[in-house]
Amino acid sequence: KEFRNNVKPNWCPGCGDFSVQAAIQRAAANVGLEPEKLAVISGIGCSGRISGYINAYGLHGIHGRALPIAQGVKLANRELTVIASGGDGDGFAIGMGHTVHAIRRNIDLTYIVMDNQIYGLTKGQTSPRSAEGFKTKSTPEGSIESTLSPLEIAMSAGATFIAQSFSSDLKQLTALIEAGLNHKGFSLINVFSPCVTFNKVNTYDWFKENIVNLDQFPDYDPSNRVAAMTKIMETNGMLTGLIYQNNERSSYEAMISGFKPEGLANQDLTLSEDQFGKLVAEFK
Ligand code: SF4
Repeated sequence: KEFRNNVKPNWCPGCGDFSVQAAIQRAAANVGLEPEKLAVISGIGCSGRISGYINAYGLHGIHGRALPIAQGVKLANRELTVIASGGDGDGFAIGMGHTVHAIRRNIDLTYIVMDNQIYGLTKGQTSPRSAEGFKTKSTPEGSIESTLSPLEIAMSAGATFIAQSFSSDLKQLTALIEAGLNHKGFSLINVFSPCVTFNKVNTYDWFKENIVNLDQFPDYDPSNRVAAMTKIMETNGMLTGLIYQNNERSSYEAMISGFKPEGLANQDLTLSEDQFGKLVAEFK
């Protein structure tokens, strides 16, 4: 159960993405996966490199398109556990259309977003997660756009699993990824993952001062949709922990009649002459 490989990450020292990599590797081992049973599909950005740093099947996709690829991988290779990953620019800007529809579709995969509230790979521009007034090279007088709330969007899109964590809390992050991997449906895990090079505002210390950790509220019930939405709004999205989980709704796969759990490669797809003839007749 070895999910480490020999590739040395080229993230900046101190980048929050190191913890996400470690948490995925630990969580995958803790839930009893084997490397050949895991696929990690990523988009573009510093965070997108993560698929190359985990000993599993991996595909470094294109910008904003980790989720369509991951959904295709999961539906065709049903025995695989699939993780999609990327940054906030990747998933909540160019990829937001895919994110919303993947959430409501509820295919059984785990989406981990490394949310550093800036574009790091292109050297520091505002992302949809940047705060109003945030000054970067692209917004020298401060961002005039409102900040996007992925948690509120996920709730309204019908998510069945929403969690949020912080790169400094490896224990919580690992436990939440384990819970996401075990969830039968789409799980969104947004991770505050500081960019130490280009974001000098949303630093490790800033997050520590501003985060409300749900683990400190033993009475919090993540199955209560109203309570989850209330908590998100009360904290302005600055909360960590398991925010919402709905185990009542079936996954996309479970609702397809005749869906076989075996991967396509393991199914006998041979058609008899009679079946082939009927198929051809349908297209005449
Ligand atoms: Fe991480 Fe930022 Fe460096 Fe990219 S630029 S590797 S996000 S610290």
